[in-house]
Amino acid sequence: MQRSILFQRGLLSRFARRAFLARRVFYAFGMFFSALLGSLFCSFGFGQEPAGELRVGFGASEITPSRPTPMAGYYGVRFSTATHDPLWAKSTVLDDGQTRVVLVVVDLISTNPWMVRETRKLIEQQLGIPASHVMISATHSHTGPMLYEPEERLAARFGNQTDEAKGYMIGLPERIAKSVFDAAANLRDRTAWYAIGQESQLAFNRRFFMKDGTVGWNPGKLNARIVREAGPTDDALPFVAFYDEPGKLAGLLSSFAIHLDTVGGTEWSADMPYTIQETLGKVFGVEAHLQYATGACGDVNHIDVRTGNRQGGHQEAARIGTRLSGSILRSWNRLQPVASNRLAASHQIVRVPVRPHSAERSEWAKGVLSKMNDQPLPAFMEMVEAYRIADVEAHPDGMLDAEVQVITLGGQVAWVSLPGEIFVQLGIAIKDASPFAITSIHELANGSIGYVPTRQAYEQGNYEVISARCAQGSGEMLVESAIGQLREQFNGKQQKSQVEGR
Ligand SMILES: [Zn+2]
Repeated sequence: MQRSILFQRGLLSRFARRAFLARRVFYAFGMFFSALLGSLFCSFGFGQEPAGELRVGFGASEITPSRPTPMAGYYGVRFSTATHDPLWAKSTVLDDGQTRVVLVVVDLISTNPWMVRETRKLIEQQLGIPASHVMISATHSHTGPMLYEPEERLAARFGNQTDEAKGYMIGLPERIAKSVFDAAANLRDRTAWYAIGQESQLAFNRRFFMKDGTVGWNPGKLNARIVREAGPTDDALPFVAFYDEPGKLAGLLSSFAIHLDTVGGTEWSADMPYTIQETLGKVFGVEAHLQYATGACGDVNHIDVRTGNRQGGHQEAARIGTRLSGSILRSWNRLQPVASNRLAASHQIVRVPVRPHSAERSEWAKGVLSKMNDQPLPAFMEMVEAYRIADVEAHPDGMLDAEVQVITLGGQVAWVSLPGEIFVQLGIAIKDASPFAITSIHELANGSIGYVPTRQAYEQGNYEVISARCAQGSGEMLVESAIGQLREQFNGKQQKSQVEGR
């Protein structure tokens, strides 16, 4: 194990040095022709542009609650008892001399509009970076705190309206923003490289066609009634590496489509991103900034129904995190230099309709919710549906605001964020249509509208569909917005947002 890591390091250094030199030559030629041809370059594609300057900074701020607080993740109240590993807000700031963008990932179950709005406000006040250029996504750790909901009409959740949860939420924007301020304070010239790892053994679609013709959700290990998976998984593990100099990695951004719920219990833990930090930290040094985001995985988890083996706890988190780290390292020699450092950012608020329900169902839901303090609790799917109906009714205009954001670096790298637990097929549709070499999807970003199934899944029903607040077709609307923004940025039509980014 140790030997193979050292071997990788050797390869890495040689490769990085060679590619770094090649890039300097490319850059020098680019500058020369740029000076010669002036604005003619503007009409060319990204590939022909000079690289231009790129300054990148990294910051991390601990966001572990300082006292026992209700934990997120399951339908029930459980207070934290200890910390296994700290929770982090990790930030990367990129600056091409004209435009600045921010990518933030927090070790939390989700993001809500209040915390995103307040955090962006602090960032705009201090750094002048507008909201459209700040992407804040959550890893979806099930061993982080329950999120207090400042908007009372949206507040129906187990344990999230306690004083402890409120106290935590009020201090959160400042703690998240601190990671961005730290990143902006250490901006320096860095080179960007990108690659896509492959991982086909870890993630499993959790919806299955069953022998009785229904679609099952988490039907259980070795269930003989399973026919086959009802949806795909996404094997791609896109990553972007930033180097200070050949052989010295400063930071790494990566994402993968897998549900982040392996640890369980009552100790704070970032779950598998903790192992990624530990494992890749051994390769690249503890000071390397390792920022992992959760991709579109609304219907994907780590449970392999073909084995009866238990898959939970810290050991399972470590197994998955180590393997994801290995998949990144295995593709390290595929790293390509980003040819242009031009940054662009845009976002669009897509107004999606809520799921309709009858007046009769509304009354039924009130009945279920009135029994939430009883023992035993109402049946699980009844609670899921009742919460959905209460949430939907908290939006009297029948619409949900869903922010779709796209940030791109040159013609090669795109980060797309979506506000919810997004079915993997929707993420794949965006990646397939994206003109960029790599497209990294961050879900649960800039707020959340809950589960976002595919149009087809609505016909099939079961958990995610029962829970989904948005109407059938909403997911496809978000995909369309993302693809539109990707194409626009690829074609260099984001002049306006570039000006805004200063
Ligand atoms: Zn979950």
